[in-house]
Amino acid sequence: MTNVGTTYATSENTVSTPPPTISNEMPPPHTKKRRNRSEVWKHFIVSSEEEQKASCKYCDTKIKYNNGTSSMHAHVSRCLVYKRQRTLSSTTSVEEHVGSPLIVKFDQEAIRRAMVKMFINMEIPFRKVEHESFHEFMSLASPRFQICSRTTLARDVLKLWDSERMILKIFSL
Ligand SMILES: [Zn+2]
Repeated sequence: MTNVGTTYATSENTVSTPPPTISNEMPPPHTKKRRNRSEVWKHFIVSSEEEQKASCKYCDTKIKYNNGTSSMHAHVSRCLVYKRQRTLSSTTSVEEHVGSPLIVKFDQEAIRRAMVKMFINMEIPFRKVEHESFHEFMSLASPRFQICSRTTLARDVLKLWDSERMILKIFSL
């Protein structure tokens, strides 16, 4: 004995529409099945089942859904609040693009400088640059990065050391 008709209880939090005259008649049974069928429903919540209106989650615009979801699709495509949220999230969270490494800018020099710094700061012996675990790590972290030999690393360390000393000199002048 499941009473599928009493779905209006879920809309009790949406007070934006005038209180409907709640009749004891059951709404047409297909309204419940129809809901959530389309992808567009993730942008909307039902604001009034009696009036068959859904409100946009972003700007609260009420859209009638009794004639299908085309007007909802149309709204999402021009909803300014939604557009703004989307551009914000796509520029602030780089993590979203992890799946596509092509977007990440590859900078051999920057990685190399960071690596040299790491070896100095962590006091890692230069020969460890040839360690297979380090190679394995780098091949996963940055497949295009060319790991240098220990002699090159030592030379780079000296170079960096020199340039850092230069900077120190400049700043202490
Ligand atoms: Zn909207």
